[in-house]
Amino acid sequence: MLKPSLYGFTLPQLEEYVRQEGQPTYRAKQIFHWLYQQRVQDVEEMTDLPKNLRSTLAQTTLLCSMKELVSQKSQDGTIKFLLELHDGATIETVIMRHDYGNSVCVSTQVGCKMGCKFCASTLGGLVRNLTAGEIVEQVVLCQRLLDRTHERVSSVVLMGSGEPLDNYDASIGFVDIVTDPEGLKIGQRHITISTVGLVPAIYRLADEMRGITLAVSIHAADDETRSKMMPVNKAYDILTLLDACRYYYEKTGRRITFEYALINGHNDKIQDAQKLAKLLQSLPCHVNLIPVNYVPERDLTRTPQDQIRAFANELERLSINATVRREMGSDIAAACGQLRAQQARERI
Ligand code: SAH
Repeated sequence: MLKPSLYGFTLPQLEEYVRQEGQPTYRAKQIFHWLYQQRVQDVEEMTDLPKNLRSTLAQTTLLCSMKELVSQKSQDGTIKFLLELHDGATIETVIMRHDYGNSVCVSTQVGCKMGCKFCASTLGGLVRNLTAGEIVEQVVLCQRLLDRTHERVSSVVLMGSGEPLDNYDASIGFVDIVTDPEGLKIGQRHITISTVGLVPAIYRLADEMRGITLAVSIHAADDETRSKMMPVNKAYDILTLLDACRYYYEKTGRRITFEYALINGHNDKIQDAQKLAKLLQSLPCHVNLIPVNYVPERDLTRTPQDQIRAFANELERLSINATVRREMGSDIAAACGQLRAQQARERI
Protein backbone atom coordinates (compact mmCIF):
# COMPACT_ATOMS: atom_id res chain seq x y z
CA MET A 1 0.00 0.00 0.00
CA LEU A 2 1.15 3.52 -0.75
CA LYS A 3 2.44 5.44 2.23
CA PRO A 4 0.48 8.57 3.20
CA SER A 5 2.00 11.94 2.40
CA LEU A 6 3.31 13.87 5.38
CA TYR A 7 1.76 16.96 3.80
CA GLY A 8 -1.67 15.39 4.22
CA PHE A 9 -1.64 15.53 8.02
CA THR A 10 -3.40 18.34 9.84
CA LEU A 11 -1.62 19.39 13.02
CA PRO A 12 -4.07 17.46 15.27
CA GLN A 13 -3.58 14.37 13.08
CA LEU A 14 0.15 14.70 13.36
CA GLU A 15 -0.17 15.03 17.14
CA GLU A 16 -2.09 11.78 17.14
CA TYR A 17 0.64 10.19 15.02
CA VAL A 18 3.47 11.21 17.36
CA ARG A 19 1.45 10.17 20.42
CA GLN A 20 1.07 6.72 18.92
CA GLU A 21 4.80 6.62 18.49
CA GLY A 22 5.12 7.30 22.22
CA GLN A 23 6.43 10.82 21.64
CA PRO A 24 5.38 14.06 23.32
CA THR A 25 2.77 16.11 21.45
CA TYR A 26 5.10 19.07 20.82
CA ARG A 27 7.00 16.93 18.32
CA ALA A 28 4.09 17.44 15.92
CA LYS A 29 4.63 21.20 15.98
CA GLN A 30 8.32 20.68 15.37
CA ILE A 31 7.54 18.55 12.33
CA PHE A 32 5.06 21.15 11.10
CA HIS A 33 7.71 23.86 11.38
CA TRP A 34 10.18 21.79 9.39
CA LEU A 35 7.59 21.10 6.72
CA TYR A 36 6.09 24.55 6.34
CA GLN A 37 8.51 27.07 7.77
CA GLN A 38 11.85 25.50 6.84
CA ARG A 39 10.34 23.62 3.90
CA VAL A 40 12.80 20.76 4.09
CA GLN A 41 12.71 18.08 1.43
CA ASP A 42 13.86 15.16 3.52
CA VAL A 43 12.88 13.91 6.98
CA GLU A 44 16.59 13.55 7.78
CA GLU A 45 16.85 17.34 7.78
CA MET A 46 14.52 17.55 10.81
CA THR A 47 17.53 17.63 13.08
CA ASP A 48 15.85 18.32 16.41
CA LEU A 49 13.75 15.15 16.21
CA PRO A 50 15.02 11.95 17.81
CA LYS A 51 16.63 9.62 15.31
CA ASN A 52 14.07 6.86 15.85
CA LEU A 53 11.16 9.24 15.14
CA ARG A 54 12.89 10.39 11.97
CA SER A 55 13.33 6.86 10.77
CA THR A 56 9.73 5.92 11.60
CA LEU A 57 8.53 8.97 9.67
CA ALA A 58 10.71 8.04 6.72
CA GLN A 59 9.46 4.46 6.78
CA THR A 60 5.76 5.19 7.16
CA THR A 61 5.19 8.45 5.29
CA LEU A 62 6.13 10.12 2.03
CA LEU A 63 7.56 13.59 1.74
CA CYS A 64 8.20 14.92 -1.75
CA SER A 65 6.12 12.79 -4.07
CA MET A 66 5.88 15.00 -7.15
CA LYS A 67 8.21 15.50 -10.04
CA GLU A 68 8.39 18.73 -11.98
CA LEU A 69 8.06 17.68 -15.64
CA VAL A 70 7.78 21.11 -17.18
CA SER A 71 7.94 24.63 -15.86
CA GLN A 72 7.24 27.64 -18.02
CA LYS A 73 7.69 31.27 -17.12
CA SER A 74 5.79 33.96 -18.90
CA GLN A 75 6.73 37.58 -19.41
CA ASP A 76 4.26 38.75 -16.76
CA GLY A 77 5.92 36.51 -14.16
CA THR A 78 3.32 33.74 -14.27
CA ILE A 79 4.95 30.36 -13.73
CA LYS A 80 3.23 27.19 -14.74
CA PHE A 81 4.20 23.70 -13.68
CA LEU A 82 3.27 20.35 -15.07
CA LEU A 83 3.75 17.94 -12.18
CA GLU A 84 3.94 14.19 -12.28
CA LEU A 85 2.40 12.32 -9.36
CA HIS A 86 3.63 9.04 -7.89
CA ASP A 87 1.41 7.03 -10.26
CA GLY A 88 2.45 8.88 -13.40
CA ALA A 89 -0.67 11.05 -13.57
CA THR A 90 -0.07 14.72 -14.33
CA ILE A 91 -1.55 17.93 -12.98
CA GLU A 92 -0.96 21.63 -13.42
CA THR A 93 -0.14 24.26 -10.84
CA VAL A 94 0.32 27.97 -11.54
CA ILE A 95 1.92 30.87 -9.68
CA MET A 96 0.42 34.22 -10.57
CA ARG A 97 1.96 37.58 -9.65
CA HIS A 98 -0.42 40.34 -8.64
CA ASP A 99 0.30 43.73 -7.15
CA TYR A 100 -1.26 42.46 -3.90
CA GLY A 101 0.94 39.37 -3.73
CA ASN A 102 1.49 35.94 -5.22
CA SER A 103 -1.35 33.56 -5.68
CA VAL A 104 -1.13 29.88 -6.48
CA CYS A 105 -3.73 28.01 -8.48
CA VAL A 106 -3.90 24.36 -7.41
CA SER A 107 -5.54 21.32 -8.96
CA THR A 108 -7.81 19.15 -6.84
CA GLN A 109 -8.37 16.19 -9.16
CA VAL A 110 -6.61 14.53 -12.07
CA GLY A 111 -9.04 15.33 -14.85
CA CYS A 112 -12.65 16.10 -13.99
CA LYS A 113 -16.04 14.50 -14.49
CA MET A 114 -18.16 17.65 -14.66
CA GLY A 115 -18.16 17.72 -18.46
CA CYS A 116 -18.26 21.50 -19.02
CA LYS A 117 -18.26 22.00 -22.77
CA PHE A 118 -15.58 24.70 -22.87
CA CYS A 119 -13.07 23.15 -20.49
CA ALA A 120 -9.90 21.21 -21.33
CA SER A 121 -9.61 19.51 -17.93
CA THR A 122 -12.67 17.37 -18.41
CA LEU A 123 -11.78 16.04 -21.88
CA GLY A 124 -10.53 12.68 -20.60
CA GLY A 125 -12.98 12.45 -17.69
CA LEU A 126 -11.99 12.01 -14.06
CA VAL A 127 -8.85 9.97 -13.51
CA ARG A 128 -8.73 10.27 -9.74
CA ASN A 129 -9.07 12.53 -6.74
CA LEU A 130 -5.97 14.16 -5.35
CA THR A 131 -5.26 13.62 -1.67
CA ALA A 132 -5.06 16.59 0.70
CA GLY A 133 -1.31 15.99 0.80
CA GLU A 134 -1.03 16.26 -2.97
CA ILE A 135 -2.92 19.54 -2.94
CA VAL A 136 -0.74 20.92 -0.13
CA GLU A 137 2.46 19.77 -1.82
CA GLN A 138 1.63 21.93 -4.85
CA VAL A 139 1.68 25.03 -2.63
CA VAL A 140 4.87 23.98 -0.84
CA LEU A 141 6.56 23.43 -4.18
CA CYS A 142 5.60 26.95 -5.28
CA GLN A 143 6.63 28.44 -1.95
CA ARG A 144 10.05 26.79 -2.28
CA LEU A 145 10.52 28.48 -5.62
CA LEU A 146 9.42 31.85 -4.21
CA ASP A 147 11.82 31.39 -1.29
CA ARG A 148 14.66 32.07 -3.70
CA THR A 149 13.42 35.66 -4.09
CA HIS A 150 12.19 35.98 -0.48
CA GLU A 151 8.56 36.08 -1.52
CA ARG A 152 5.62 34.21 -0.16
CA VAL A 153 2.44 32.59 -1.37
CA SER A 154 -0.19 35.00 -0.10
CA SER A 155 -3.30 33.44 -1.55
CA VAL A 156 -4.50 30.19 -3.06
CA VAL A 157 -7.27 29.51 -5.55
CA LEU A 158 -8.65 26.00 -6.01
CA MET A 159 -9.16 26.61 -9.71
CA GLY A 160 -6.83 24.18 -11.40
CA SER A 161 -8.08 20.93 -12.86
CA GLY A 162 -10.88 19.21 -11.02
CA GLU A 163 -13.97 20.10 -9.05
CA PRO A 164 -12.92 20.81 -5.44
CA LEU A 165 -16.38 20.18 -4.01
CA ASP A 166 -16.44 16.76 -5.71
CA ASN A 167 -13.35 16.03 -3.60
CA TYR A 168 -14.70 17.72 -0.51
CA ASP A 169 -12.75 16.12 2.32
CA ALA A 170 -9.37 16.50 0.66
CA SER A 171 -10.12 20.12 -0.26
CA ILE A 172 -11.16 20.97 3.30
CA GLY A 173 -8.22 19.05 4.77
CA PHE A 174 -6.04 21.16 2.48
CA VAL A 175 -7.58 24.38 3.82
CA ASP A 176 -7.02 23.24 7.42
CA ILE A 177 -3.36 22.47 6.73
CA VAL A 178 -2.34 25.59 4.82
CA THR A 179 -4.18 27.98 7.15
CA ASP A 180 -2.61 26.56 10.31
CA PRO A 181 -0.75 29.32 12.22
CA GLU A 182 2.08 26.83 12.84
CA GLY A 183 2.34 26.13 9.13
CA LEU A 184 2.05 28.24 5.98
CA LYS A 185 -0.33 30.67 7.75
CA ILE A 186 -2.37 31.49 4.68
CA GLY A 187 -5.47 33.38 5.84
CA GLN A 188 -8.82 31.68 5.18
CA ARG A 189 -9.93 34.85 3.46
CA HIS A 190 -7.12 34.38 1.01
CA ILE A 191 -8.37 31.02 -0.12
CA THR A 192 -10.92 30.72 -2.91
CA ILE A 193 -12.77 27.54 -3.78
CA SER A 194 -14.20 27.58 -7.27
CA THR A 195 -17.12 25.29 -8.05
CA VAL A 196 -19.43 24.39 -10.92
CA GLY A 197 -22.20 24.66 -8.34
CA LEU A 198 -22.57 21.41 -6.41
CA VAL A 199 -25.41 22.68 -4.27
CA PRO A 200 -25.37 20.22 -1.32
CA ALA A 201 -21.65 20.79 -0.87
CA ILE A 202 -22.15 24.58 -0.88
CA TYR A 203 -24.61 24.22 2.03
CA ARG A 204 -22.17 21.96 3.81
CA LEU A 205 -19.36 24.44 3.34
CA ALA A 206 -21.55 27.26 4.64
CA ASP A 207 -22.54 25.26 7.72
CA GLU A 208 -18.95 24.49 8.51
CA MET A 209 -18.52 28.25 8.72
CA ARG A 210 -15.27 28.57 6.90
CA GLY A 211 -14.20 32.09 6.08
CA ILE A 212 -13.11 31.08 2.61
CA THR A 213 -14.24 32.79 -0.56
CA LEU A 214 -16.62 30.92 -2.78
CA ALA A 215 -16.36 31.38 -6.53
CA VAL A 216 -19.19 29.97 -8.58
CA SER A 217 -18.83 29.24 -12.28
CA ILE A 218 -22.14 30.53 -13.55
CA HIS A 219 -21.26 31.27 -17.19
CA ALA A 220 -24.86 31.78 -18.36
CA ALA A 221 -27.94 33.65 -17.24
CA ASP A 222 -30.64 31.18 -18.26
CA ASP A 223 -31.05 27.47 -17.67
CA GLU A 224 -31.27 26.50 -21.31
CA THR A 225 -27.90 28.05 -22.17
CA ARG A 226 -26.27 26.94 -18.93
CA SER A 227 -27.43 23.33 -19.29
CA LYS A 228 -25.89 23.21 -22.76
CA MET A 229 -22.58 24.46 -21.44
CA MET A 230 -22.54 22.75 -18.06
CA PRO A 231 -24.28 19.40 -17.52
CA VAL A 232 -24.35 20.05 -13.75
CA ASN A 233 -27.11 22.58 -14.39
CA LYS A 234 -29.51 19.72 -15.11
CA ALA A 235 -29.06 18.54 -11.53
CA TYR A 236 -29.01 21.99 -9.89
CA ASP A 237 -30.58 24.77 -11.90
CA ILE A 238 -29.67 28.44 -11.61
CA LEU A 239 -32.26 29.42 -9.02
CA THR A 240 -31.43 26.42 -6.83
CA LEU A 241 -27.76 27.37 -7.10
CA LEU A 242 -28.42 31.00 -6.24
CA ASP A 243 -30.41 29.97 -3.15
CA ALA A 244 -27.35 28.07 -1.97
CA CYS A 245 -25.14 31.08 -2.71
CA ARG A 246 -27.42 33.33 -0.70
CA TYR A 247 -27.26 30.87 2.18
CA TYR A 248 -23.46 30.85 1.93
CA TYR A 249 -23.40 34.64 2.09
CA GLU A 250 -25.77 34.76 5.05
CA LYS A 251 -23.80 32.19 7.01
CA THR A 252 -20.31 33.45 6.27
CA GLY A 253 -20.72 37.14 5.39
CA ARG A 254 -18.49 36.49 2.41
CA ARG A 255 -19.42 38.08 -0.89
CA ILE A 256 -19.70 35.49 -3.67
CA THR A 257 -17.61 35.69 -6.82
CA PHE A 258 -19.32 34.60 -10.02
CA GLU A 259 -17.17 33.51 -12.93
CA TYR A 260 -18.55 34.11 -16.38
CA ALA A 261 -16.54 32.96 -19.40
CA LEU A 262 -17.60 34.94 -22.44
CA ILE A 263 -17.97 32.78 -25.53
CA ASN A 264 -18.63 34.39 -28.86
CA GLY A 265 -22.29 34.07 -29.82
CA HIS A 266 -23.22 31.81 -26.90
CA ASN A 267 -23.69 33.88 -23.76
CA ASP A 268 -22.35 37.33 -24.55
CA LYS A 269 -25.27 39.46 -25.68
CA ILE A 270 -26.24 42.63 -23.81
CA GLN A 271 -29.53 40.88 -22.96
CA ASP A 272 -27.48 38.16 -21.25
CA ALA A 273 -25.83 40.82 -19.09
CA GLN A 274 -29.27 42.18 -18.23
CA LYS A 275 -30.61 38.72 -17.32
CA LEU A 276 -27.52 38.08 -15.19
CA ALA A 277 -27.90 41.41 -13.39
CA LYS A 278 -31.52 40.58 -12.62
CA LEU A 279 -30.58 37.19 -11.17
CA LEU A 280 -27.85 38.63 -8.98
CA GLN A 281 -29.43 41.93 -8.03
CA SER A 282 -30.02 41.30 -4.34
CA LEU A 283 -26.99 39.10 -3.67
CA PRO A 284 -23.74 40.74 -2.51
CA CYS A 285 -21.38 39.53 -5.19
CA HIS A 286 -18.77 40.25 -7.74
CA VAL A 287 -18.74 39.08 -11.36
CA ASN A 288 -15.46 38.06 -12.92
CA LEU A 289 -15.68 38.07 -16.70
CA ILE A 290 -13.24 35.73 -18.40
CA PRO A 291 -12.52 35.86 -22.13
CA VAL A 292 -12.83 32.16 -22.96
CA ASN A 293 -9.53 30.41 -23.46
CA TYR A 294 -9.13 28.62 -26.71
CA VAL A 295 -9.20 24.85 -26.45
CA PRO A 296 -8.44 23.15 -29.80
CA GLU A 297 -10.90 20.31 -29.13
CA ARG A 298 -13.70 22.74 -28.39
CA ASP A 299 -13.97 25.13 -31.33
CA LEU A 300 -15.15 28.11 -29.30
CA THR A 301 -14.05 31.65 -29.96
CA ARG A 302 -13.87 34.56 -27.63
CA THR A 303 -16.08 37.55 -27.53
CA PRO A 304 -14.42 40.61 -29.12
CA GLN A 305 -12.80 42.98 -26.63
CA ASP A 306 -15.23 45.87 -27.15
CA GLN A 307 -18.19 43.56 -26.61
CA ILE A 308 -16.61 42.26 -23.39
CA ARG A 309 -16.27 45.85 -22.23
CA ALA A 310 -19.90 46.56 -23.15
CA PHE A 311 -21.02 43.48 -21.21
CA ALA A 312 -19.08 44.62 -18.15
CA ASN A 313 -20.41 48.17 -18.46
CA GLU A 314 -23.97 46.94 -18.68
CA LEU A 315 -23.52 44.95 -15.46
CA GLU A 316 -22.02 47.98 -13.75
CA ARG A 317 -24.86 50.18 -15.00
CA LEU A 318 -27.26 47.73 -13.36
CA SER A 319 -25.29 47.96 -10.09
CA ILE A 320 -23.50 44.65 -10.39
CA ASN A 321 -19.83 44.86 -9.55
CA ALA A 322 -17.87 43.40 -12.48
CA THR A 323 -14.29 43.07 -13.60
CA VAL A 324 -12.69 41.57 -16.68
CA ARG A 325 -10.09 39.03 -15.66
CA ARG A 326 -6.62 40.16 -16.52
CA GLU A 327 -5.04 37.53 -18.68
CA MET A 328 -1.96 36.01 -17.22
CA GLY A 329 0.58 33.88 -18.90
CA SER A 330 -1.18 33.91 -22.26
CA ASP A 331 2.21 33.55 -23.97
CA ILE A 332 2.64 30.15 -22.26
CA ALA A 333 -0.06 27.50 -22.12
CA ALA A 334 -1.21 28.84 -18.74
CA ALA A 335 -4.94 28.52 -19.07
CA CYS A 336 -7.07 25.78 -17.64
CA GLY A 337 -5.55 22.44 -18.45
CA GLN A 338 -3.81 23.53 -21.62
CA LEU A 339 -0.36 22.31 -20.69
CA ARG A 340 -1.62 18.89 -19.64
CA ALA A 341 -3.85 18.60 -22.71
CA GLN A 342 -0.97 19.68 -24.92
CA GLN A 343 1.24 17.02 -23.41
CA ALA A 344 -1.46 14.38 -23.81
CA ARG A 345 -1.84 15.30 -27.48
CA GLU A 346 1.90 14.99 -27.98
CA ARG A 347 1.86 11.54 -26.40
CA ILE A 348 -0.65 10.20 -28.90
N1 SAH B 1 -14.33 22.95 -11.23
C1 SAH B 1 -14.20 24.27 -10.72
C2 SAH B 1 -12.79 24.82 -10.70
C3 SAH B 1 -11.89 24.58 -11.87
S1 SAH B 1 -12.04 25.54 -13.33
C4 SAH B 1 -15.12 25.20 -11.45
O1 SAH B 1 -15.67 24.82 -12.46
O2 SAH B 1 -15.34 26.31 -10.98
C5 SAH B 1 -11.71 27.22 -12.95
C6 SAH B 1 -12.50 28.19 -13.83
O3 SAH B 1 -12.06 28.19 -15.19
C7 SAH B 1 -13.98 27.85 -13.87
O4 SAH B 1 -14.75 29.03 -13.77
C8 SAH B 1 -14.13 27.26 -15.25
O5 SAH B 1 -15.45 27.31 -15.71
C9 SAH B 1 -13.19 28.12 -16.05
N2 SAH B 1 -12.81 27.59 -17.35
C10 SAH B 1 -12.67 26.32 -17.75
N3 SAH B 1 -12.32 26.24 -19.04
C11 SAH B 1 -12.23 27.49 -19.49
C12 SAH B 1 -11.92 28.08 -20.74
N4 SAH B 1 -11.62 27.33 -21.82
N5 SAH B 1 -11.91 29.40 -20.82
C13 SAH B 1 -12.19 30.19 -19.74
N6 SAH B 1 -12.51 29.70 -18.54
C14 SAH B 1 -12.54 28.37 -18.41
